[in-house]
Amino acid sequence: MGAAIGLPRRGDWVRGWSILLVSPRVVPTSARPPSDSPTGGMQRVDLFEYQGKQFFASFGIPVSAGDAVTDVDEAVAVAERIGYPVVVKAQVQVGGRGKAGGIKLANDADEVRTHAGDILGMDIKGHTVEIVWIEVASDIAEEYYASFTLDRSAKKHLGMLSAEGGVEIEAVAETNPDAIAKIWVDPIDGLTEAVAREWVAAANLNPEATEGAVDILQKLYTAYVDGDADLVEINPLILTPDGRVHALDAKVTLDGNSTFRHADYEQYEATQVRDERETEAFEKGLQYVGLDGYVGVIANGAGLAMSTVDIVNQVGGKPANFLDIGGGANADVMAGALEVITNDPNVRSIFINIFGGITKGEEVANGIVTAMERVEIDVPIVIRLDGTNADQGREILQPHLGDKLVMESTMVSAAEKAVALAGN
Ligand code: GDP
Ligand code: MN
Repeated sequence: MGAAIGLPRRGDWVRGWSILLVSPRVVPTSARPPSDSPTGGMQRVDLFEYQGKQFFASFGIPVSAGDAVTDVDEAVAVAERIGYPVVVKAQVQVGGRGKAGGIKLANDADEVRTHAGDILGMDIKGHTVEIVWIEVASDIAEEYYASFTLDRSAKKHLGMLSAEGGVEIEAVAETNPDAIAKIWVDPIDGLTEAVAREWVAAANLNPEATEGAVDILQKLYTAYVDGDADLVEINPLILTPDGRVHALDAKVTLDGNSTFRHADYEQYEATQVRDERETEAFEKGLQYVGLDGYVGVIANGAGLAMSTVDIVNQVGGKPANFLDIGGGANADVMAGALEVITNDPNVRSIFINIFGGITKGEEVANGIVTAMERVEIDVPIVIRLDGTNADQGREILQPHLGDKLVMESTMVSAAEKAVALAGN
């Protein structure tokens, strides 16, 4: 993605940060809707492909007929009903299923049986396949890419369209950025047919695809806005040999804050696969992203938190998380952060990196001391405290220092200490 846009992606699913390209260790939680966060927000809702296609179809976007099933016999029954050839598709919330062997063409019942049997239970990038989607196979003449997401800095909706679909759009952005036609849609204006037509022309789609693409892009925009989505992506959007344009894949992230407007979104919330650590942090109002290392990280400010993650990596360690406690480092916030981090069984040391600004050093130090009294912590903590009133803060921490609480004066030495204490 061009640096100017910074499409917010985390792994394959949209997130607040563009920098954290991490694959989370996903822990399935019980099928309950997410609870309200103290910040008043709700977690995003990621749809499986089959749900995304249902969502698209409800806005009139053409998708292939099919059904989602959880066992081989059901898969065969669906194929018999919809007719051969069919495509057996792994339902996991991660891209690149095709390359991973999670998408197979089947010409008869035996092939459906074989492929569904192979794909169900398959592990794709840490996601276990529990559902397969069986759909009528399509003939493909060309594969395109289309999406809408929010460009926060522009305060507009960003549409991306490319004649080079079927591959990861990040790869296209890197090797051939000109092949992606972008438009910024003012939410007040919406996407007019004339603009959609210009956009399609700019993307150099096959002229045969023009009418179908213009129609689908307008419907996709409506789905994105009226459906309260944060992301809608079709990759590939196909042109068939007989000139039809059609969504062959669907990636949709809904805005969790909008579910009160959509009674039918309950079904999507019920199937959410969430990282337990992220849910706990979310409920505490913390900006947290789970990573797969062993050094717990707490910092104030997103920039410092990212640098802290980077520096742990740089000194040869592995961060267990990204956690920004924001401006207020009081005892409640610090205790919440320490709880989330110590609940992660992989954490073997904690690195607290605070730069006092509006929150002064002594407040931070008092917050840490009180939090440590409230939360049972079995792993060593390394603190680096700098900025406003850092000296006073360090003085407060001094009597508490020992095996369990270590202070370092620089970010690098603190990171090294935290990694060493983790036993690596
Ligand atoms: P992804 O790999 O997870 O993005 O899964 P997709 O649903 O995008 O499928 C990956 C690729 O499989 C597509 O780009 C197509 O090339 C191919 N594919 C999927 N469905 C069909 C189909 O119905 N017919 C044909 N010929 N190819 C398909
Ligand atoms: Mn795809």
